[in-house]
Amino acid sequence: MIIQLQPDISDSQKDKLILEVNGVGYKTTEVKTQLGSYLIGIGKKEFDIRKIGQMDGIIDIHIVSDEYKLVSKKWKAKPTSVDLGDGIFIKEGEMAVITGPCSIETEEQIRAVVAHCVENDIKMMRGGVFKPRSSPYAFRGLGLEGLKLWHKIASEAGIKIVTEVMQTSQIEEMYPYVDVYQVGARNSQNFNLLDELGKVDKAVMIKRGISGTIEELLQSAEYVFSGGNENLILCERGIRTYERASRNTLDLNAIPILKAKSHLPVIVDPSHGIGIRAYVPQMALAGVMSGADGIIYESHEVPEKAYSDGQQTLDFAQSARLAGWIRESFEMRKGFDLL
Ligand code: PEP
Ligand code: MN
Repeated sequence: MIIQLQPDISDSQKDKLILEVNGVGYKTTEVKTQLGSYLIGIGKKEFDIRKIGQMDGIIDIHIVSDEYKLVSKKWKAKPTSVDLGDGIFIKEGEMAVITGPCSIETEEQIRAVVAHCVENDIKMMRGGVFKPRSSPYAFRGLGLEGLKLWHKIASEAGIKIVTEVMQTSQIEEMYPYVDVYQVGARNSQNFNLLDELGKVDKAVMIKRGISGTIEELLQSAEYVFSGGNENLILCERGIRTYERASRNTLDLNAIPILKAKSHLPVIVDPSHGIGIRAYVPQMALAGVMSGADGIIYESHEVPEKAYSDGQQTLDFAQSARLAGWIRESFEMRKGFDLL
């Protein structure tokens, strides 16, 4: 169960409430986020919800039987809107377009991508400065200095930054320069990292683990939420299956399922999802039609020269067309009244 507490609940009201909840056989955990206070009750027994519901100091009580609680739609029907400032949101009812290279490489490259975003009215740019690479000999990113440079150029152009944080020690040093902390697929269940991201007041986008289930993705989001941060975005980026013809298998099923289970915005990454440049637009548009609230894809001035993931990266002409198609498809989807 989730009990939403009034901000001014007194200690004695809270003690009484906890006693009552324990009394019906539920263990309690108190959660304080930047937006609200909650008492989470974990248990299985049936009980009379009205008795607790009328106690002092609470706003509402909800039965949520899923393993994840606070990210569930069962208690919060209103979709979460992630506000990045300057009128830029990631939320249901809008279509976020996020593009940029796999890795931030040079000043010249940053300037070229930022200009591409500005020309195409794309407000959010992706790129890695700390890169999780399967091989230790591959390019591992420009690090914090690269992020600082990128932030200077992007913020002057009004572009928001989405970039991966790989470990807890990076959270603070990155803070002044990021708008969305990306948790990569390989870190999807790094619970220490998720706990720490619960303490920051900036948005967090969690990618689905390489072999992660939908349920596990939601549980990862629950870590950040219960750690205090409600500014969350879920990202489907493909999972590893027995299929080797594509880099990953983009699980489009996950989009309507996540949207039905959770109030959090869901975005799709077709670049890592299929891993083949020529098919990225198709899968991006399939993502739009499946109900996503945004698409994140890789682009680069000269994809063949990209330091990483060039094979799945669009050039600027392709990216410009795709951004237009994403928006057109979204307009068309609105007519279907999918959800
Ligand atoms: C990326 O976005 O470049 C990336 C490394 O993604 P993922 O964590 O999904 O592999
Ligand atoms: Mn990549």
